[in-house]
Amino acid sequence: MKKRKMTLTTKVVLGMIAGIVTGLVINALGLNEQGSFVEEYIVGGIFHVIGTMFITALKMLVVPLVLFSLITGVLGIGDINQLGKVGAKSFALYILTTAIAIAVAIAIAVASAVGEGVNLATEATFIAKEAPPLNSVLIDIIPSNIIDAMAEGKMLQIIFFSILLGISILMVGKKAKPLVSAIEIMNEVMMNMVNIIMAVAPYAVFALIAKAISNLGLDLLINLAGYVAVLIIALMVHLFITLMGIFKLFTGLSIKTMLLKLRDVQIFAFSTSSSNATIPVTLRTVTERLGVNNSVASFTVPFGATINMDGTAIMQGVATVFIANAYGVDLGLSGYLTVIMMSVLASIGTAGVPGVGLIMLSMVFTQVGLPVEGIGLILGVDRLLDMIRTAVNVSGDATVSVIVAKSEQKFDRAVFIDPKAGILTADDIHINEKSEESLAKVVEKVHKKS
Ligand code: ASP
Repeated sequence: MKKRKMTLTTKVVLGMIAGIVTGLVINALGLNEQGSFVEEYIVGGIFHVIGTMFITALKMLVVPLVLFSLITGVLGIGDINQLGKVGAKSFALYILTTAIAIAVAIAIAVASAVGEGVNLATEATFIAKEAPPLNSVLIDIIPSNIIDAMAEGKMLQIIFFSILLGISILMVGKKAKPLVSAIEIMNEVMMNMVNIIMAVAPYAVFALIAKAISNLGLDLLINLAGYVAVLIIALMVHLFITLMGIFKLFTGLSIKTMLLKLRDVQIFAFSTSSSNATIPVTLRTVTERLGVNNSVASFTVPFGATINMDGTAIMQGVATVFIANAYGVDLGLSGYLTVIMMSVLASIGTAGVPGVGLIMLSMVFTQVGLPVEGIGLILGVDRLLDMIRTAVNVSGDATVSVIVAKSEQKFDRAVFIDPKAGILTADDIHINEKSEESLAKVVEKVHKKS
């Protein structure tokens, strides 16, 4: 009986810890060697299958969830001007936090002289992929074909279309009532789908983390300990000091509550390495646990997952200083300013998916004249760092969502301070028998009529 009462968060935390331990054991015992039983059937088999199925299921939810919640958001905002304000405020805050993040990261990295005296011999080679040209970012907000945008999961295009659709429905007026209810119901349905998929999260998180940790090159981590340590310090400074400082300053709310409630989102981001795949969880947490009204969250969350990447910007700052020092290049103040600007722009132009940070980094390197091959040096440890920085990325999205909602009076303090608000237990995922019966009757009636 007691087991049923355990909350999902607790189970997910347990899954994460078990995953880390399992991964470390497999790694330390060298069980994951190519062709070995453990590698083939456990890590590359069971863990890989469960983990990938879970991430795919989350991704499956993203497009319909964003679509319905954002249209519902526009319909429920009450005043279209407010939408403009929400957009402007969240954009400004996302840019501001990213710029602070990278500036602080560069300062920490320069002060710690990370990368000086590093041995440049590396076997890993990095082949730079094309990053999207910045001038096309604006044009790309408008989809030429919405089905294509949805198929490709182009978040900014989906956001644009949903807002336009919401406004157009409002313009129809009274006649659109049935459509409005249908969209609201669909939004609720999608949220239930999130709950169902989250029910298996503890096992999936275990599989994803065990796989990632068991494949980590621990020797590499030790070799690059300086880089890894400085980067993790910079990420923590940003999360606990900058983000929480800004949060306290703008909202006056409890940092402790905020951090406790962010845990779910961070673990999901950590295990999936993707802000995009985490959108369903972020949206759920921000609305149901932190008290942000859907009319704000449905916009700020997918928008943030796409343009706000504080953790990624921090990685770029530290990596730039690291590689510059390793190659003995002096970037000077103007070089660093260029890095700050480039990273902020690059984070707007690229979506939150695993490993995209490295692609953005090659863009930054080309701009300041650092050798792109240098990225090969840090490639081996990027998997783990991607996990950590994605957790920081989504924390930024959630923090800005609360700040904007509070300033627009679209915030429910009672939900925020209630430690139990929106907590998911096994009991929440069930079909109400009565409603099942009555729905069956409705369906029967419709059938008879036709
Ligand atoms: N994985 C990160 C995200 O999805 C992006 C990155 O830094 O590679 O937010």
